[in-house]
Amino acid sequence: MVKKKQDKMPQAPAADRTKVLLVEDEESFIEALEIGLANEGFDVTVARDGHEAMAFFDQGEPDLVLLDMMLPKLSGLDVCRTIRSRSTVPIIMVTAKSEEIDTVVALEVGADDYVTKPYRLRELVARMRAVLRRTPEATEPSEVLPAEEATVEVGEVRVELDRRRAVVRGVETHLRRKEFDLLTLLMENAGRVLTRDVLIDRVWGSDYVGDTKTLDVHIKRLRTQIEVDPSKPTLLTTVRGIGYRFDGSTLSAER
Ligand code: CA
Repeated sequence: MVKKKQDKMPQAPAADRTKVLLVEDEESFIEALEIGLANEGFDVTVARDGHEAMAFFDQGEPDLVLLDMMLPKLSGLDVCRTIRSRSTVPIIMVTAKSEEIDTVVALEVGADDYVTKPYRLRELVARMRAVLRRTPEATEPSEVLPAEEATVEVGEVRVELDRRRAVVRGVETHLRRKEFDLLTLLMENAGRVLTRDVLIDRVWGSDYVGDTKTLDVHIKRLRTQIEVDPSKPTLLTTVRGIGYRFDGSTLSAER
């Protein structure tokens, strides 16, 4: 049974709206997201289990997939892996706190980002816009943020995406291209651990075959640029055996 729900509000023409496939089995979340995301200008289709997700994905060619981890019939991880094997569409996983380990796996099988329940709509939309920004071919002009607002600020560090400028404690710091990309990715995911594989994949590309020491070298140089004491990093920390994390108390991103 197809349960695709039509929004009753007047809408912009469908072609102008970013198509989101929402894969979620909890009605309370579905209801809130259908309304909230429609208000943000997204065109939402709901799939309530893993099989529906794949069927709707093939029919609808969404611009972005919001994918719950725990689903009937086919797990979110399986859906993620299958979609990624045939498409580069941005995927954001939605997880519960207890599924943190699965989140690491999700990023490794190709999810672009994740949010943990309970989350605020504003945070979710900021993350959606961030992943859409990284895939410009899927983004309508109306979804692109005004240049002066395309900044990410966490604590005392700010990156300005348009000018590729990083400002640390009020002072501009000169980063090389990959260092800037790495810092931006870590800051957009402030407070979360990103695995070495994910960092290498996002910054250098999935076909990167160079020395894995490259990442460490870049992290080390980034620390000399942003840390008060690079030998005792407090912003860009190592999570032993897993990867790195940007620590910051506040994420005031995007808008
Ligand atoms: Ca669920």
